[in-house]
Amino acid sequence: MKFLSTRKKSLPASFSEGLFCGLAPDGGLHVPESWPVVDFASLDVESSLAEIALPVLAPFFSGDELEPHLQEICRSAFSFAAPLKTLNPKIQILELFHGPTLSFKDYGARFLSECFKRHAASAGAPVTILVATSGDTGSAVAAAFHQKPGVQVVVLYPKGGVSERQEKQLTGWGENVRSLRVAGSFDDCQNMVKTAFQNSALKSRWRLTSANSINIGRLLPQMVYFASASLRAQALYGTEPQLVIPSGNLGNAVAAFWAKKLGAPIGHVVLATNANTVLADFFKAGEFNPRASQNTLANAMDVGNPSNLERLTAMYPDIGGLQKVSSCVSISDDLIKETIRDSFNKWNMIICPHTATAVKAAQLLQLEHAVVAATAHPAKFDSIVSTIIGRPVPIPLQLSQLLDRDTVVQDISTDPRDLERILNG
Ligand SMILES: *Cc1c(COP(=O)(O)O)cnc(C)c1O
Repeated sequence: MKFLSTRKKSLPASFSEGLFCGLAPDGGLHVPESWPVVDFASLDVESSLAEIALPVLAPFFSGDELEPHLQEICRSAFSFAAPLKTLNPKIQILELFHGPTLSFKDYGARFLSECFKRHAASAGAPVTILVATSGDTGSAVAAAFHQKPGVQVVVLYPKGGVSERQEKQLTGWGENVRSLRVAGSFDDCQNMVKTAFQNSALKSRWRLTSANSINIGRLLPQMVYFASASLRAQALYGTEPQLVIPSGNLGNAVAAFWAKKLGAPIGHVVLATNANTVLADFFKAGEFNPRASQNTLANAMDVGNPSNLERLTAMYPDIGGLQKVSSCVSISDDLIKETIRDSFNKWNMIICPHTATAVKAAQLLQLEHAVVAATAHPAKFDSIVSTIIGRPVPIPLQLSQLLDRDTVVQDISTDPRDLERILNG
């Protein structure tokens, strides 16, 4: 299996080549050259994620150097479950937040780390993973690569731009993880990372690699939990479920479309967004107008220029085709608060602000057989959620352990030369 660039000007790449380059050389994003069909009807609904992962991912590894290791990679990356919980008769909540840093990004980051680990063993010189984060990506990547030989991680996050607990999860590591607190915005962080990647001396000296959601190694594994959840929900509802996904850069949503393409029993796909309406506007008119993002309660989705949109339009070049299989709904902060309150009061479930956008979208669209992706644990956003529901959110063990750790962080300006100095220093 090869992967083609959405811009069609690069040579086809293997999975492992895509893993290391992130963006395709022509600036496009890698997409599979063809779509195998997986026989989902023959899979046992009760299978674990690791078991489902193998038939779902094997076609994409065929011929790749990592093919012989896939089973082991899946076993390590999918070592925690994604249970479905009943919110009400029409909505099942798919809990994707039982990993080390309590967001769905743990799945992709751990899969990536398992892949890198096996390459590092044969490659010699260490690689440096440089990540700009608005919160959850950085911690998932830090946790996944912490203490892994042959890799150092450098995380940049905006000072004052993440919740207190997210910051703990970004800075409680040390050793091969360096956390840099940037005196600027997320866009500044991203800009510094981009500048570093354009500096070819720096790039080759430190073997800089990215780990953001455009990386094919993060995207493919995300199909697995949607495939598994759709099988389970189909058994429960007696019909194909609709999937509702809290969306920002569209990495999770594209994985859902890809799982559907492989034949997983997924009906309509709903993208739930916050008050950043760039996607909802695109769905209405078919015109894409990227813009600066605005801050909302669902901060991991504060995106004004979704980086995976190119993959979506590669699948659905015409907006009419996309509208047939999918909808997009934008949810305001007021509705997020109302939905967190209602979910707790009516159904006794505590949800995070991102998940709330998707619950509300399912209600507004009057879905009858919905699976809502719960992308983060509410305890990560305790300062928002506890004031709304009037009580503290119980803290999972992996978070309380991290809250006790010493933090290691370096302050840095928005000047890309500062980053260069720190890398070389
Ligand atoms: C990253 C993130 C999202 C958005 O996911 P995309 O793949 O960027 O669309 C939603 N919710 C949470 C909690 C996240 O961390």
